Amino acid sequence: MEIVKFGGSSMATPTTVKLCRDIVASNPQPQVIVVSAPGKFGIYETKVTDDLIRLTKGAPILDIILKRFNDLARELLSTKQYDDYQKILSSTRIAILENPTDYNFIVSRGEYLSAQLFAMYLNYRFIDAYDILVIKPDATIDLSATKQRIKQQHLKQQIPFVIGGFYGQRDGKTAIFTRGGSDYTGAILAVLMHASIYKNYTDTNGIQTANPHLVPNTQTIPCLDFDSLDILTHNGAGVIHENVAKLLEAYRVPLRVDNTFNPHQVFTEIHSTRCRHCQHNFFCVTNKEQHIVIVKKMHGKPVTVQSFESTPQHFVADIQLIHQSLQKQL
Ligand code: ASP
Repeated sequence: MEIVKFGGSSMATPTTVKLCRDIVASNPQPQVIVVSAPGKFGIYETKVTDDLIRLTKGAPILDIILKRFNDLARELLSTKQYDDYQKILSSTRIAILENPTDYNFIVSRGEYLSAQLFAMYLNYRFIDAYDILVIKPDATIDLSATKQRIKQQHLKQQIPFVIGGFYGQRDGKTAIFTRGGSDYTGAILAVLMHASIYKNYTDTNGIQTANPHLVPNTQTIPCLDFDSLDILTHNGAGVIHENVAKLLEAYRVPLRVDNTFNPHQVFTEIHSTRCRHCQHNFFCVTNKEQHIVIVKKMHGKPVTVQSFESTPQHFVADIQLIHQSLQKQL
């Protein structure tokens, strides 16, 4: 059994959702599908989660957000499914209006509606993450309570199914992880349901040597060990949520970071047992605004992390220069 997770840009438009469907359909393995809320792509310049956060702060955009889901549904679903989905949209609308101060509930509706939609489109079962994931006050998972729920709900027998990432519950109320937490949901289900692999589909060719939106000629890091991934994700590599590496490593579930828009071509594999490639050198230049971090493993030595401040005017040029010189050293 495999856990397959699609990020926000993969769930953003009818065209991208169809690509996700093709990826699911081409996989002969039984699958648990985890989805994010629709993100930025094409004509959509905002992430649904950001819109929902703005809604909780009083922006009058509830109907605009729901229209985005309605447009997706109209394009993707049959007439009967579309009618059913509209009912889900109206009950969600009512629930949000009745609970205007329930931040976690409102912000989690992006993943909820995305999973409902993709489940209908695939003709798979929908599982509400609220019934399964128990989230602690520090926004980490209560593994033993969640394991119990997986058992109680006979979740293995429900495969294949679609579940929304990012949310769950605590003490009978909706709870959420930190931003990007749908990756974490996928990892939790991968370890507790004993998946053979966790495939995380995003919008880049795996983990890159730098942010390809800022730097030309970035390359895919073909293979990493979990320690290196953990260091990378704690130092600004935004491609995967920072709670994922340690969890997967503890349960020895391998991870593949692949590209929805170019699937199965160039990807990053991350696993515990060191393969030939994992001993290879790698580097990655990350940044949080002008704060630049170089993570590298060179000449068979342990991973090193170097960081320094650039300036708002120069950080892009600085990253590009650093990236170029590291490429020469490899
Ligand atoms: N939608 C949430 C976010 O934008 C969670 C996720 O996509 O992983 O942070």
